[in-house]
Formats: sequence, structure tokens, C-alpha cells
Amino acid sequence: MRWTRSLITTLRDDPQEAEIDSHKLMLRAAMIRKLSGGLYTFLPLGLRALHKVERIVREEMDRAGALEILMPALQPTELWEQSGRLAAMGPNMFKLKDRAERTLALGPTHEEVVTDLLAREVNSYRQLPCTVYQIQTKFRDEIRPRFGLMRAKEFIMKDAYSFDVSLEAADASYQAMYDAYVRIFKRCGLRTKPVEADTGDIGGKWSHEFMVMAEAGEDGIVECPACAYAANQERAERRVPSPAMPATVVASALVREIPTPGARTIEQVAAFLKCPPAHLIKTLIYLADGKPLAALVAGDREVNEHKLKRALGCKRMELADDATVRKVTTAPVGFAGPVGLALPIYADFGLRGAMDRFTGANKADTHVAHVDLSRDVKITEFLDLSIVGAGDTCPRCDGTLRVARGIEVGHVFKLGTKYSEAFQAKVLNEKGQAETLVMGCYGIGVTRTLQAVIEQSRDKDGIVWPVSVAPYTVALLLLDPKDAAVTAAAEKLAQELEALGIDVLLDDREERPGVKFKDADLIGLPYRVVAGAKSLAKGGVEVKSRTSKESLLVPADQAAAKIAELVAAARQTLS
Ligand code: ATP
Ligand code: MG
Repeated sequence: MRWTRSLITTLRDDPQEAEIDSHKLMLRAAMIRKLSGGLYTFLPLGLRALHKVERIVREEMDRAGALEILMPALQPTELWEQSGRLAAMGPNMFKLKDRAERTLALGPTHEEVVTDLLAREVNSYRQLPCTVYQIQTKFRDEIRPRFGLMRAKEFIMKDAYSFDVSLEAADASYQAMYDAYVRIFKRCGLRTKPVEADTGDIGGKWSHEFMVMAEAGEDGIVECPACAYAANQERAERRVPSPAMPATVVASALVREIPTPGARTIEQVAAFLKCPPAHLIKTLIYLADGKPLAALVAGDREVNEHKLKRALGCKRMELADDATVRKVTTAPVGFAGPVGLALPIYADFGLRGAMDRFTGANKADTHVAHVDLSRDVKITEFLDLSIVGAGDTCPRCDGTLRVARGIEVGHVFKLGTKYSEAFQAKVLNEKGQAETLVMGCYGIGVTRTLQAVIEQSRDKDGIVWPVSVAPYTVALLLLDPKDAAVTAAAEKLAQELEALGIDVLLDDREERPGVKFKDADLIGLPYRVVAGAKSLAKGGVEVKSRTSKESLLVPADQAAAKIAELVAAARQTLS
């Protein structure tokens, strides 16, 4: 491809709209352009790299025995009523009406459609195991689309779904997809870490996310340096020592009200009472599917809404609005407390045995002291409710946990029978009895993966593409496009490379060498070859990999073979 015919308009400066490096680089390297918030056009350079990622995904899905299908992006919302997920998806799902006033959704995911499909297509255990996949555009009305392709409203996902006749067979299907994911990300040149994950609205029992560790990641990853434990912070657990029972039970002082004028937040109250935040009990009022409840954690911890939601098995979990808080606590916001509160009360298990604590008094400008949870509060249940952070104890060993940032590029779930029950997806087993299918679902954010490659592989000058997904493999800089002999040598080399299956971007622009070098670094193709009057006079072309400082002078007629050798070695490391 000749640069002059390629629609590559690089940008010298960082665009205002971009916050993280990979987003800036994709815009500067003319890979994508913004249409509006969360919506992007792929320019030719970006689309080439995207197609290479898609090809790797496809090859590994096929190798794992999955069958490619293509389902409609438009889905009747009745299917979502049937699975009971319409409410849970809420405003995240784009909905529209057709001319007959039927409501349709633009698919954010395809569990419903695919289960409905397979329920009709399979009827015997002989057709199983069966895993189907598609690579398709998904739509989600994200609250905060940002970071370019990382969190978009429209993005490309590879979604796969497995169907099995037993739990054991489903485990094998899950493992096959897990292994395929390991290969896919390795081939894309990505270093990923599989972590235990929350199952969210998709439902199901067990899941792993594949994380690209990066500062710009939106997910917190809790990991133990002493053992292999790694989990998304949404799910992460911690070990809490069971409270030591005092040898003799000392009766603590009785609950007493203390005026705390204007002190509402934990910090304000702790400062006012001159005590550490951990001596306070934080009381938050939530609505679980619309019903109020209180969640208690120590003053120095935060409630993990995902864990609360999962523990209670509800569809929606949200902080109660001010009016509800005032109604159920009979006090303004900031003074809620569990003593005498007529609501279901769930306490973090770190609060077991908590005595002599401060908490809100359900009365304006007032807190209570000397609260003994077992004596003064009717706890509905102790649960694992708080966000786990750095310094907490590993749930598997005695290690001290730490927290890092990650980008979720893939997700594998064991779904169980949630959808197959809703859609009556059954087959006859060997004995002729009807058996409900056991499912798994497996997503890869294809467009997010592409950007994650850049986030993980870049330097101060630009992108550093792994050879497997680079839009082109070689940037061939023709430094003297007006010189017929140099042009002929460069064009010949380009043809020889193409004949060896190596794609080349020939920079034939009438630009200064400095501009071409800068653009080559920015676009970041794995190999740069310089063909100029000077280099040819010295005996050949200069070959350099994007990651090395030194270039190699290679006779023009040997250059193609030499580059092919380098490319083959680089590909080897990614296979
Ligand atoms: P997130 O937690 O980042 O919102 P999710 O858990 O909702 O993602 P899944 O339903 O598991 O996402 O979707 C499968 C994959 O699709 C994710 O692992 C991610 O790589 C990708 N993905 C999800 N939402 C987006 C988005 N808004 N833009 C780009 N890719 C996305
Ligand atoms: Mg996910």
C-alpha cells in the first residue's frame, strides 16, 4: 500500500478528547475517528489491525471446535422478559419500536437469542457438546462511554455459548474456551491475567475475567503475592479473624446519645468524636429491588454493592434516595444507625463481635456511643459485604493482598441452567429422559482488545505493534521519491515482501525524512526499512525493528529474505 493512497492523516499533537495514551495514539496514528460520544469510525489502518485480531479469534474458536454463526443485532424484547433480565438491563439497553409498535432491543449480548435458537435446534444428547460463536457489533448505552474503544456505546464482541448435557461436560467446554482465550491473547502479543470475577447480570455460578494489567484499567484487581489468588475487586474476598471471645464477659456501658451538630460524614464524625474511623459503624440504606435495607460496615471500609446484590439474589441494588432515607430513619441523611431501625440489617462479617462503637442515632445532629452489635442490634445476617483492598488478608493463605489496575478484555462464565430453564432448552439423554442443558458463555471485547494491545505496547514515540496484529508489518520509507533508481529499488523490495506474504506500507510521500521517521515511529509497524539515495550508495537499505535502536544495512536484493527471517522469528515468539 502506498501512503499517498492510504487515507492516513497523522496528527502531531494529542487530541483534547483523549485521556489515556492508547486512545491518543489511535487518533494520532489515524486508526479511528470519533463520530460522537462512544461511537467511532475505523479508518483503513485501524480496520486492518482489527481484522487481524478477528482472524486470530476466529482461528482459535474454530480450533477449539466452536461453530461460527451470526445472529441479528435486533432482538424482540419479549425474549428478555422470558429470561427475566429486562429490568436488570434497564437503561443500558437501547430499545426502539418497529412500525407495528413492537419493542425491539439492539443486542447488548445474546444469551436469550442463542438459547431460544438452540432450544429448537438440538433435541438429542448426540448433538452435544455444542459451542457456537459470532463476531458481531454490540450496543450498550453506557453511563460513561470513555477512553475511545475501551468503553464505547457500539463495539465489536466475540460471544460464544456452550451447551452440554451434564455439569461435567459443561466444565470441559468451559476449560476449552479458557484455554482458547489464553492462546488468543498470547497470539495478540498481550500479557493477560485470569482473575476470579463477579457474574453480574449475566447470572451464573463461576466466572473468570482476562485482565490486561495497565494503569489506565477501569477494574481493580486484588492479588495475593504469596499464592495464586487474583480476583476482580467487585468479587474479591478477605479473611477476617474470628473475634476472640473475652474470658469473662465484660458488660460495656449502655448506649448513650451524643450531640454531633453538623457532622454527617465518617470523617466529620470521627474528627468531632476524636476517634479513629474504624470505631464508627457506617450505616447505608439501600433499595434491593425497591425494598429498603440497611448495610453496615466499619467506618474505615466501603460497602461492595456487587457482593451485597449477589448475596441477596436481587435484580437491582441501589443506594436509597434522600426521601427514602428520611422516611425509614426518621432523620436527615448522614445520621442513620442500626439501633432500633425497623429494616432488615445486613452487617459485614468484619463487624462480628463489634462492641463499644459509635453510629448514627436516626435523629438529626446526633450519634450514639457504646453500641454493642450483638446486644443492641437485631442483625438479619452477617455477610461478606465490604470492598477488599490493599493490606487485607488473602482468603486462601495468610498473604497480604495488594491492588492493581486492569482492563477486562475477555470473560468466561459458567451459566448453569438459568437460561435453558427459561427457554425450555432440553435434550433427551442416553436413557431417553429429558435433560435441561447446562450452558456457558464467553465474551471477548474485540475492539477493546485492539486498544489494550496499544495500551500495553507503546513508548514515548508511538505504538509498538506486536507482529501478529500490526496493520502492516513493514514501513518502507522511500526517502527520495523523485529519484527514479531509488523509487524502483523500493518498489521492487515492496513487491518481493508482498510475494513472501509480508504486508508493506510504502511511504512515498514528498515529505522530509524527519517527518517520515516520526510518522513511522508513531504508527509503530514492527519493521522500518529506509531506502534512499544515501543508503543505496552505501550498498543497500537500512532495516530496523521498532524496538531496537540500531539499524542493519542489507543489500537491496537480500532485504526481503532478511526481513522474512526476522518476521518469522518474531511470529514464533507469539505462537
Ligand atoms: P465491563 O465490566 O467492562 O462493563 P462487562 O463485564 O459488562 O464489561 P461482558 O458482558 O462480560 O462485559 O462483555 C464481554 C466483553 O466485552 C468484555 O470482557 C469487554 O472486553 C467487552 N466490553 C464490554 N462492554 C464494552 C464496551 N462498552 N465497550 C467496549 N468493549 C466492551
Ligand atoms: Mg464482564
